[in-house]
Amino acid sequence: MVMAPKITTGMPAGKKPRPRSDFSPTEFDQSITTKGYRMWWSRAGICPCQNNDQTDQPDPNCQLCKGEGRYFFLPDNVSDGGKDVYGNEVELNDAGNAVSIYVLMTAMAQDVQLFERFGEWVFGTAKVTTQAPNKLGYHDRFIARDAEMVYAQIVEFDGADVIPIVGSRKKTGLRYPYISIHELRSVSQVYKQDEHYTLTSSGTIAWIGSQAPDSGTRLAVHGTVRPVWIVLDHVNTYRDTQLAGGTPELSSQKAEALPVHAVAKLDFLLDAG
Ligand SMILES: [Zn+2]
Repeated sequence: MVMAPKITTGMPAGKKPRPRSDFSPTEFDQSITTKGYRMWWSRAGICPCQNNDQTDQPDPNCQLCKGEGRYFFLPDNVSDGGKDVYGNEVELNDAGNAVSIYVLMTAMAQDVQLFERFGEWVFGTAKVTTQAPNKLGYHDRFIARDAEMVYAQIVEFDGADVIPIVGSRKKTGLRYPYISIHELRSVSQVYKQDEHYTLTSSGTIAWIGSQAPDSGTRLAVHGTVRPVWIVLDHVNTYRDTQLAGGTPELSSQKAEALPVHAVAKLDFLLDAG
């Protein structure tokens, strides 16, 4: 007599497969649009400048990734705008490297404001869920379109008329465009908005007349910015459901993708960890 192996490959004896009727992928997608945040979504690519086989270090002078090792690009050939899979108008950002989507955010760290007190070492993560067709990848980026958060940084002023946005790799400018400035100061002087400087519509700081400090002055900038999130981990790499196929055969059922969720972390916290 042959012993039955201790594995399972189908239905329990006497049971017939019944398609699940408990889940509608389009209703899941619908609830994400009604409860989600508007975000600029960019895909992340690994920059080809990482040519050192031992360390995979990016080239600090790389034009594509600016030494970050990853670059961001527009998802899925929507560069000409047009319509999404549901027929909605596609909206692109000014840089042309992000598309506006809805993102459900849950389990967001409650203590993002603590950053004001503790500097750049607060642990800020959230679970993000996107509509089923928007398949997230590792290191993808979201920029909140409507939300504001407090951010503070140091600028090593280089004497230019405008303090530009330089990203994360340099200290000579702003990491993000600022929406508002609470304080701008050196150790010895506080600079006042509309007296010493103006905040431009593009989020940079422009000095008024000869009010700029000496080149080489270190400045503290404190204000609000749009939160930037980076995808760090996939809680579900994929999540599918079986739809009715019309016959009682499992093989005739149709697998359909459901929204997945992933863990994202505030972009500036990645430098600290
Ligand atoms: Zn590169």
